[in-house]
Amino acid sequence: MLEHDVIIVGGGLAGCRAAVEIARINPSLNIAVVAKTHPIRSHSVAAQGGMAASLKNVDTEDSWEAHAFDTVKGSDYLADQDAVAILTQEAPNVVIDLEHMGVLFSRLPDGRIAQRAFGGHSHNRTCYAADKTGHAILHELVNNLRRYGVQIYQEWYVMKLVLEDGQAKGVVMYRLLDGHIEVLRAKAVMFATGGYGRVYNTTSNDYASTGDGLAMTAIAGLPLEDMEFVQFHPTGLYPVGVLISEAVRGEGAYLINSEGDRFMANYAPSRMELAPRDITSRAIAYEIRAGRGIHPDGSAGGPFVYLDLRHMGREKIMSRVPFCWEEAHRLVGVDAVTQPMPVRPTIHYCMGGIPVNVDGRVRSSGDNFVDGFFAAGETACVSVHGANRLGSNSLLECVVYGKRTGSAIANFVQNRKLPVVDEQRYIKEAQQEIQALLEQPGKYRINEVRQAFQDTMTQYCGVFRTEELMSQGLEKLAELEQQYPQVYLDDKGKSWNTEIVEALELRSLMVVGHTILASALNRQESRGAHFREDYANRDDEKFLKHTMAYYSPAGIDIQYRPVAITMFQPQERRY
Ligand SMILES: Cc1cc2nc3c(=O)[nH]c(=O)nc-3n(C[C@H](O)[C@H](O)[C@H](O)COP(=O)(O)OP(=O)(O)OC[C@H]3O[C@@H](n4cnc5c(N)ncnc54)[C@H](O)[C@@H]3O)c2cc1C
Repeated sequence: MLEHDVIIVGGGLAGCRAAVEIARINPSLNIAVVAKTHPIRSHSVAAQGGMAASLKNVDTEDSWEAHAFDTVKGSDYLADQDAVAILTQEAPNVVIDLEHMGVLFSRLPDGRIAQRAFGGHSHNRTCYAADKTGHAILHELVNNLRRYGVQIYQEWYVMKLVLEDGQAKGVVMYRLLDGHIEVLRAKAVMFATGGYGRVYNTTSNDYASTGDGLAMTAIAGLPLEDMEFVQFHPTGLYPVGVLISEAVRGEGAYLINSEGDRFMANYAPSRMELAPRDITSRAIAYEIRAGRGIHPDGSAGGPFVYLDLRHMGREKIMSRVPFCWEEAHRLVGVDAVTQPMPVRPTIHYCMGGIPVNVDGRVRSSGDNFVDGFFAAGETACVSVHGANRLGSNSLLECVVYGKRTGSAIANFVQNRKLPVVDEQRYIKEAQQEIQALLEQPGKYRINEVRQAFQDTMTQYCGVFRTEELMSQGLEKLAELEQQYPQVYLDDKGKSWNTEIVEALELRSLMVVGHTILASALNRQESRGAHFREDYANRDDEKFLKHTMAYYSPAGIDIQYRPVAITMFQPQERRY
């Protein structure tokens, strides 16, 4: 059996930042990072627009309190305000720390870090590296892992969390190269497994964003928090769904309907294109529904609106958002200097997740914790984003809470012994699971079931939700869940059997999708990204609380947990 003091599952920003912190605090600890991709291929590398911090380099009026207020208002008052205070107070320090590690942020003419406007932020506070910010940060962090001697298990798929008697003891993992199975035990386990964009049929996320960490946690009997809050990013490139960063609007681009109007004037007159994402995505969906969308031939009534950069001019486009220009050019043949880009909302981010406190400790219920289990980043819910995340607050969360969780883990593992784990039992179980997948005589292809599942989630739990629609969605999902044991694998081999991984990922997607639907059905109000046509208003009296959903194959039990309100009383949310 392999042994480490600490196992971190996930090589994105949150996992890498935690590993660096643990190594800095106690270089003698033996740390492992496990990832099903190469760490550099984690979705964090695709982050474009930037990372928020009240550095005051551009806007001297900014403050951490203003950043905190914008975040809480953006969250539709569901964020835990103690966690938001830590996020926004720590932000300038973590940016400067990254800078010292070597991250190449874009500069002002006088050499200080540049900061741009972003949706829902009342000051220019987003630090960036052109529109490749995640790339710049993740490369430095991964280099640092090597410098600190962190052991990296890349292209290993973690299938199971070993949780016994309320204590996390390790993980079971499968090597993609040759199908070899290992049990890894440790004094502490951290999940930093990212989001679940692939639950839906159109997403800005990478193929690996299948919510595995969420599903493994739920299957272990632990709750997931606020899963109904699914972020649609307003500007997914049509038809591929690839992200066109909010930085493009931060730099001045317009949203235009088929009548040539900047329609955001009707939805968020004071913020226009820089309203928060929930409001902007709904506005686009309303325009399309009302027949003011555009067809590929330019006529009215189609499935997208235009993102217009033409007035910004070639020089600004090429220096500030070169990657977005390139994406539109390469993927749909649009030259944004002279033509508008076709866009529509695309699934982008998971506000909910594994419930944790501000030290990254995972909750087993509202007030109790699992011994030795930690989480941070997009897979965790601490909750700084509440019902709607502001752009450029996620990279920040990964770094602030990755660092804090790393520090909590370094303290936690001191003077602890390695747990006792029955290695053979877990290996046997995992081998049987894989063997069953290979041998089951099934009649469905994985791809077929996955596509039907993604279409179901998109149709029945999208931007606009109702009780009727979601109840139908749950029925469809139950049918698809019946098909899962009948999926058929063509590849029966051990070497690079990607079908096995796809089958395991499909199980994750289904557990996560089920939890999203059940949580959304139970929340009879509209708040942030969760919009119910049958309950169109926010209802603080009944629903100013966090959902805690407990999964079991028989059904999902929903409980609630109070919101921490320490600074700002809930108000009506207008922009
Ligand atoms: C296109 C795009 C642009 C974005 N732009 C911005 C931006 O400008 N600003 C901002 O603040 N946010 C942005 N975001 C959001 C932000 O990038 C993510 O929320 C954040 O990077 C998530 O980091 P993470 O460390 O939590 O997870 P990820 O970076 O997603 O990493 C997850 C890791 O977990 C591993 N993993 C998952 N499951 C398993 C398993 N079963 N076994 C082993 N390993 C596993 C993966 O291999 C990977 O290493 C953007 C997101 C997208 C999709």
